[in-house]
Amino acid sequence: MGKIVAIGQSPKAKTAARAPATDRPSRSDAENAVRTLIRWAGDNPNRQGLSGTPARVARAYEEWFSGYGEEPRDYLSRTFDEVAGYDEMVVLRDISFESHCEHHLAPIIGRAHIGYIPRNRVVGISKLARLVDVYARRLQIQEKMTAEIASCLDSVLKPFGVAVVIEASHQCMTTRGVHKSSVTMVTSQMLGVFRKRLETRQEFLSAINLRAVQP
Ligand SMILES: [Zn+2]
Repeated sequence: MGKIVAIGQSPKAKTAARAPATDRPSRSDAENAVRTLIRWAGDNPNRQGLSGTPARVARAYEEWFSGYGEEPRDYLSRTFDEVAGYDEMVVLRDISFESHCEHHLAPIIGRAHIGYIPRNRVVGISKLARLVDVYARRLQIQEKMTAEIASCLDSVLKPFGVAVVIEASHQCMTTRGVHKSSVTMVTSQMLGVFRKRLETRQEFLSAINLRAVQP
């Protein structure tokens, strides 16, 4: 069993991105805003089929945007430092996520792949997936989300390097605007040895590409 080491900081130390409670509209403000959007779309928010919709949308927002109430570094605060000399790449691929673009509030559906080369300590793999979720459950642009995940891992774990690749489809592009249904956007952020050494970057990219050739 590896020894568990607490690093990072207490949950209170870092302020989450959520607006202060005093600035936050009430639930009924939010529901009224949904009624306004329904009227703007051309429908009647008081008709039977829509009467429960504002409350459902408010609850959905609580789930879709729960990342504002969470501090991503908390998920990396427990690490295992007994790695028996393991100093090769750790890769977690195909972490599915759902996010929303900050330009249209439209869904972004995708997968993230994370690699890092530990410096004496590793983090549980489920924590990497949770880290992706915290950033995904905020209003995002894909480039920012990619950089945020990489920089959080880099600053907390201080590994030899971090690589993050995200592939996603943006419904603001597939269902409206240019209507390109099969377009996927790929972004990557490489830090440390992944940025400096071509072979390391190649090794990571082939590890995440393996998925595509498997049945
Ligand atoms: Zn958009």
